[in-house]
Amino acid sequence: LTGRLGDIFDKLRRRGALTEEDVSAALREVRVALLEADVALPVVKQFVTQVKERAVGQEVLKSITPGQQVIKIVHDNLVEMLGEGADINLNAAAPVPILMVGLQGSGKTTSTAKIALRLKTKERKKVLMASLDVRRPAAQEQLKVLGEQTGVATLPIVAGQDPVAIARRAIETGRREGYDVVMLDTAGRLAIDEELMAEVAAVRDATKPAETLLVADAMTGQDAVTVATNFNDKVGITGIVLTRIDGDARGGAALSMRQITGKPIKLLGVGEKIDALEPFHPDRVAGRILGMGDVVSLVEKAVETIDKEEAEKLARKMEKGQGFDLDDMAMQLKQLRKMGGMSGLMGMLPGIGKIKDQMKDANIDDGMIKRQEAIISSMTKAERRNPDIIKASRRKRIAAGSGTSVQEVNKLLKQFETMRGMMKQVQKLGKKGLMRGGLG
Ligand code: GDP
Ligand code: MG
Repeated sequence: LTGRLGDIFDKLRRRGALTEEDVSAALREVRVALLEADVALPVVKQFVTQVKERAVGQEVLKSITPGQQVIKIVHDNLVEMLGEGADINLNAAAPVPILMVGLQGSGKTTSTAKIALRLKTKERKKVLMASLDVRRPAAQEQLKVLGEQTGVATLPIVAGQDPVAIARRAIETGRREGYDVVMLDTAGRLAIDEELMAEVAAVRDATKPAETLLVADAMTGQDAVTVATNFNDKVGITGIVLTRIDGDARGGAALSMRQITGKPIKLLGVGEKIDALEPFHPDRVAGRILGMGDVVSLVEKAVETIDKEEAEKLARKMEKGQGFDLDDMAMQLKQLRKMGGMSGLMGMLPGIGKIKDQMKDANIDDGMIKRQEAIISSMTKAERRNPDIIKASRRKRIAAGSGTSVQEVNKLLKQFETMRGMMKQVQKLGKKGLMRGGLG
C-alpha cells in the first residue's frame, strides 16, 4: 500500500460511507496507477468500468472503512481478470511439441531452456530442444550451450535448413529416439511483421503443437496489445510466459495480454539464471500492478501510516523513561479500531476468511475493542495512570460504568499487564523496536 493508492486509502479512511463520488474519485487514481504500471489504455478503461459497476451500490461493510473496501474491490477484480496460472499442457501423443513464439529479445531461447529443465527435473520428462532461428548467426549455438548447461538434449545443427525443415526433423528425431517433449524455439523480430507471422504459422502447421507459448517481456508497455493480438490472431497461442518480472516493470503487460487474448499466463521469468522460472500467482502480480507490494507489506504499511503521530508521541514518552499506562493502551485500541479493526484489516487480505472466522470465535472483533475502550474511559485519571490501584471495588464500579462485567475488566487489566511487560522489553531495544512493538 504505497504511493498513490496509499493516498486514496488515507483519503477515504476518514469518511463514513462509500458514495458514488468516492468510488469515482478513487477510480480516477486507480486508473492513473494502472497506466503507470503500463497497462494498455483500452484494458484500463474496461477494468475501471467493471470495478465501478461492482463497487457502486455495494453496501459498505460495517467493520471496514470505505477506503479499504475500494482497495479490496479493485484488488479482487484485478486478481479475477488476471486469472489463474496453468500448467504446461502435455496432453498429446509423444513427442509433445511445444512452440515458443514472441518478439526478438523477449526471452524465448532462455525460457525454452528454463521450461525444458523444469519438465526434466519436476516431471521427469525426456526433452529435446531445437532452435528454428536461422536468422541470427549464433542463435542455434546459444540453445546448444544452454542444453549443455542444463543437461537437456538439443537437435544437432544442420546448416542450410529452413525453420519448417528443422521443426520436422526435430519431431522426427523426437519420435525415433523416444523423447516425451520437443521444444521448438523460433526466431523473433524487433516488431511484428507478416514474414515472421507466416514463418511461425508454417511451423505450427507442420508440427501441430500442444502448446504455443507467447513469450513477452514484462517491460512491454502499450505495445503489449499489438503483440498479443497479432500472435493470437495469426498463430493462435495457448498461453503466455512473462519474462523479466525481476526488473523494475510493474507488469501491466500481464493484465493487457491476458485481457486481450483470454489465454492464461503460465509462467514468469524471474532472472537470467536457468532456474529463474516461477508459476504465475495472480494475487502477487495484482499487488505489483497496483503498487501495493505483497499482502504483508500492505498490512504493515496500514499499521504504520495510521496515527503515526500518536505512535511517535508514545515513543517519546517511553524514551523519557515514563511507563506504559492505560491511556497508552486506549490510544492503541483507538488506532486498531480506526483501521477498521481486526476484521477490516483481515477483510482486505485474499483467502483469509478462515482466520477471520477463528478470530470471531475467539471474540476478537470491533465490538470487543469498543467495550475495552469503554472500560478504560470509565476509569478515573488516577486509575489510568496507575492501574495498580484498581482493586475489587473499583473494578465493580468500572464494570457498571462501562456496561460490561467485572470479568471483562479483569481480562482487560490482564491484557494491559502483558502489554506493559512487552513495552518494558521493547524499551530496551530502543526507539526503532518500540515503533513496531508499540502497535502490535
Ligand atoms: P530471444 O531473442 O527471445 O530468444 O531472447 P533470449 O532468450 O536470447 O533473451 C534475451 C536476453 O534476456 C538474454 O540476455 C537473457 O539472459 C535475458 N532474459 C531472458 N529472460 C529473462 C528474465 O526472466 N529475467 C532477466 N533479468 N533476463 C532475462
Ligand atoms: Mg532466441
